[in-house]
Amino acid sequence: MDPIPFGKPLLGDEERDAVMRVLQGTTLVHGPVAKEFENAFARFTGAPHAVSVSSATAALHLCYFYLGLGAGDEVIVPAMTHVATAHAVELVGAKPVFVDAALPSGNIDPRRIEEKVGPRTRAISLVHFLGVPADMEAILAIARRRELFVVEDCALAVGAKVGDTHVGLLGDAGCFSFYPVKHFTTAEGGVLITRHAAVAERIAKQKAFGVDRAVHERKVPGVYDVVDLGFNYRMSELHAAIGVEQLKRLGGFLAARRANFRSLREALTGLEELTVLGNDLTAATSSDYCLEVLLPARLKDRRSAVIAALTARGVGSSVYYPHPVPRLKYYREKYGYRDGECPVAERISDLGIALPVGPHLGPEDPSRIAAALREALAEVGA
Ligand SMILES: *Cc1c(COP(=O)(O)O)cnc(C)c1O
Repeated sequence: MDPIPFGKPLLGDEERDAVMRVLQGTTLVHGPVAKEFENAFARFTGAPHAVSVSSATAALHLCYFYLGLGAGDEVIVPAMTHVATAHAVELVGAKPVFVDAALPSGNIDPRRIEEKVGPRTRAISLVHFLGVPADMEAILAIARRRELFVVEDCALAVGAKVGDTHVGLLGDAGCFSFYPVKHFTTAEGGVLITRHAAVAERIAKQKAFGVDRAVHERKVPGVYDVVDLGFNYRMSELHAAIGVEQLKRLGGFLAARRANFRSLREALTGLEELTVLGNDLTAATSSDYCLEVLLPARLKDRRSAVIAALTARGVGSSVYYPHPVPRLKYYREKYGYRDGECPVAERISDLGIALPVGPHLGPEDPSRIAAALREALAEVGA
C-alpha cells in the first residue's frame, strides 16, 4: 500500500495550463491574473478587500508595518502558533507578549489575554489553530475596550467561519498562506483580507515599494512617485495563475477534509487516553486542517516511537508545533522562558501528533490511519 503523506498539494492539467498561458505572454508581474486571484479570493471569503502578497509572513509583517509599530510597542501573540506569527512582530522591532493556549481547541486563551495587556500594548494577534476559529467574541471585547488592532493569522483557516463570517473579517486584518501543505496552494503566496478600505489601500502600496500608482494607472510609462516606505512583497502572475485554478477546486477540497476529519474522529473512538483537539464553539466552523491527538503525559518520552511506528505503517504525520514559540531558542534567549510558563502550549508541543485529513486521502485511508495508530500505541506499550 502506498504511504499516506501528511499533506500533498493536488495539482492538475488546469494549474499547469494556467501557468503555461502566463509564460506564453510577457506579463509576469503587475498583471491581470493577480487581480483575478484577489477578486476570486474576496468572493470566496466575502471580503470587501483582498491584497495578494508573497506569503502569509509578508502579510503579517505588513500589518505591523502599516501600524507603524516599533521599539517600545507590544503585541499579544499566541504561544502555540507558527513562528511567523511572532516573527512578524519582531521584524518591526516590537515585542511579542505570549499568551498560553486553551483546550480543546489549542487556541489563545482569552481569559489570559487581559492580564498581559498593558500601556504599551498596541495589537492582539491570534491564530485559528489547525483551522478552528479562536474565541473572537471574547478577544474582540478586550480589543474594543482597549482600542487594539486585531490581526488574525488565518494560514490554516481557509474556509473557517464564525456564524456566516469568514475568519479574517472579524478582526481588522486576516492573513492567509498558500504554502504547499495548506488548504490550497500557489507554491508560495498569501493574501491579506480586511473590512477596512484604508488598510487595504495603504498595504497595497506598502507591499510594492510605496509607489503611488499601479502600472496600469501610470499615464506615462515608468513615471510614478513614491509616497510611502515599502517592500517588494508582490505575488507574481505565475503564482496567481495556480491560485485561480486551485480556488475553483477549493469547495471540493474543504468538503473532503471535513468528511475525512469526521471519519477519522469516528474511527478513533475507544482510544480513551487520547485527547483529540477540536472545536468547542457552537457557532464556529472549522476548516479541518488536520486531526491532532495528544498522548497521555506518561507517554511523553515515547512520542517519537509512536510516530516511527506510524511511519513504518505508511502513515505520515506532523507536529503542530514542536515548541511553544517562547520556548524556541531565538525567543528563549531574547526574552527568557521558564518551563511551565505556558503549560497548555507545552502539552500540545510535547504530546501532540497531527494526523492527515487532506483531500489527497483515499476512501479507506481514515480507517487505515486509525488502525495504524492503535497498532503504534500497542507497540510502544500504551
Ligand atoms: C504556514 C503558516 C505561516 C507561514 O505562512 P507562509 O505563507 O509560509 O509565510 C504562518 N502562520 C501559520 C499559522 C502557518 O501555519
